[in-house]
Amino acid sequence: MILSVDPTSGAELARYDEHSGEAVEAALAAAADAQAKWRSVPIAERVQLLTRMAKALRAGSDRHSAMITAEMGKPIAEAEAEVEKCAATCEFYAEAAPRFLADERVETNAAESLILYDPIGVVLAIMPWNYPFWQVIRFLAPALAAGNGAILKHANNVPQCALAIEALMREAGCPKGLFATLLVGSDKVAGLIADDRIAAVTLTGSTEVGAIVAAQAGKALKKQVLELGGSDPFIVLADADIEQAARVAVKARFTNAGQSCVNAKRFIVEDSVADRFVEAFVTNVEALKLGDPTRRDTDIGPMARGNLRDALHAQVERTLSAGGTLKTGGRKVEGPGYWYEPTVIDNVTPDQAAFCEETFGPVAAIVRVRDAEEATRLANQTEFGLGAALWTADIEKARGFARRIEAGAVFVNGMTASDPRLPFGGIKRSGYGRELGAHGIREFTNIKTLWIG
Ligand code: NAP
Repeated sequence: MILSVDPTSGAELARYDEHSGEAVEAALAAAADAQAKWRSVPIAERVQLLTRMAKALRAGSDRHSAMITAEMGKPIAEAEAEVEKCAATCEFYAEAAPRFLADERVETNAAESLILYDPIGVVLAIMPWNYPFWQVIRFLAPALAAGNGAILKHANNVPQCALAIEALMREAGCPKGLFATLLVGSDKVAGLIADDRIAAVTLTGSTEVGAIVAAQAGKALKKQVLELGGSDPFIVLADADIEQAARVAVKARFTNAGQSCVNAKRFIVEDSVADRFVEAFVTNVEALKLGDPTRRDTDIGPMARGNLRDALHAQVERTLSAGGTLKTGGRKVEGPGYWYEPTVIDNVTPDQAAFCEETFGPVAAIVRVRDAEEATRLANQTEFGLGAALWTADIEKARGFARRIEAGAVFVNGMTASDPRLPFGGIKRSGYGRELGAHGIREFTNIKTLWIG
């Protein structure tokens, strides 16, 4: 049984039987058949599906946004922005995919030699709940444009969103079977990965599950893209615009109730400006409005699940008992639902949980450092390598620092965020492979050499 639960109250919204073995088998067979036809549809025609997806997303935006908010609790304005970003990304790839996948001529000693980007087949997508539409669409739009099919196994707490995406694809005129949502538990994933009709796997989720899926895909010798956890540093150097950094820091940490892989999590601040930064940051955090996510003036909704809130609170308690200083928050909100107070902990050190573990919720860790050298060293002292932000007035210095930061993206004087025009992904235990941009769409292609003598 798969349950949809309202995180503001813990009340059940809907329940679904898991898909049976026969239903899974039918979906796999249909996807393989549909993809075999889709791969020979010219790309100019394939991208028209993306244009229709964008239209369907926008036409149903109120409905989709309300469902996202109901099922995982993000404020309605953030849900609307999520749906709009999905639509914009479909439009981006509708325009750019033919360029990204055009044949490339290479000079060799052959009469003609070319690189072709052929489809790879049906891709299994295992997705998380935190951006229940975006995580799916950012993979699906380029995958379909590239001539692939897709099977979605979404997180078990967003079944309504998973089914809504399937309905959206029907509405957009997706060929029957080319995309399907399977409502199945994670225990069924290994069988799907091993199935011959699945050509490749993409997972967005935790590092722990990444290691499990990577092993299964490795055993089956299937291509994988892994977008995993992060503990992004947000480095504030002494010459930065401190007030601006402290304003952006709040958004960078508390968007989506802190439940984003690229939320800034460790605020690494030079000693000489740390007091000023912390004071401004805490003032801004205390001004955040925690409350009903359907209201437009709400900044932070509940966390998505009770077990995630418990795990976060345990990390806060461990950090405080190891010497961190609580500046604000630090408590579960009493009563029904999975609310957690926006929290700032100062004087966090590398041995403490809020530094060395991913905190997936509204908790910011302040790390004070002597100088820029120590900031870089501590930024890299993590098993993760997803994004990083660096605040400084010296852009030339920033270019040098950016090269030394171990992350898939470095944002200077801004907050880390995905953009369909730029590749997105991590290194170290944040995963491998890229989504978005030209690099993302090519991940699930057969990069084929054609040599003509
Ligand atoms: P999760 O527990 O890893 O779940 C992600 C997906 O994996 C869900 O569909 C889940 O299904 C499935 N899954 C769980 N156990 C599995 C297993 N043993 N075998 C195969 N599949 C399994 O992560 P989450 O709590 O949903 O999401 C939060 C995590 O995702 C954070 O660590 C965050 O940083 C990361 N994330 C990364 C990115 C990125 O782009 N790098 C973006 C967003 C989130 P069930 O729900 O059925 O368990």
